[in-house]
Amino acid sequence: MASIFSRIVAGEIPSYKVAEDDRYYAFLDINPLAEGHTLVIPKKEVDYIFDLDPETYAGLWQFAARVAKAVEAAIPCKRVGVAVLGMEVPHAHIHLVPLQTEGDLDFRKQKKQLTPQRFAEIASGIAAAFNQG
Ligand code: 5GP
Repeated sequence: MASIFSRIVAGEIPSYKVAEDDRYYAFLDINPLAEGHTLVIPKKEVDYIFDLDPETYAGLWQFAARVAKAVEAAIPCKRVGVAVLGMEVPHAHIHLVPLQTEGDLDFRKQKKQLTPQRFAEIASGIAAAFNQG
């Protein structure tokens, strides 16, 4: 069965997309640690990031770097932090989280509640920065 993220890529489940090319897809995390918390995935479905073939793995990080620059341009933050967990969704993904303090990357903390309108505004801001980059 396709992962929830493959279903997002296929458009079967909606997402707040921020960037896409033929091999990678980036969208807002629905339970964000901070405004602008973004997930970057390969369209190819592989559970564990370190099982990706080397080319897809390298391309994923290159794509994530471009997305991180766009997040940084669109969201006021000191840096964009990176995490790889995969405890919940078995489809490789990189978390990009705008940081003000190191505690912003603590996945045990309460997630932000955002309205659909706010999600859409954030996604369009990051998408615009990505398309200019
Ligand atoms: P992980 O697998 O890295 O431990 O966590 C998966 C992440 O994906 C979580 O931060 C969770 O909020 C996010 N997530 C899970 N399901 C969905 C979904 O259907 N849409 C979006 N946008 N994010 C999701």
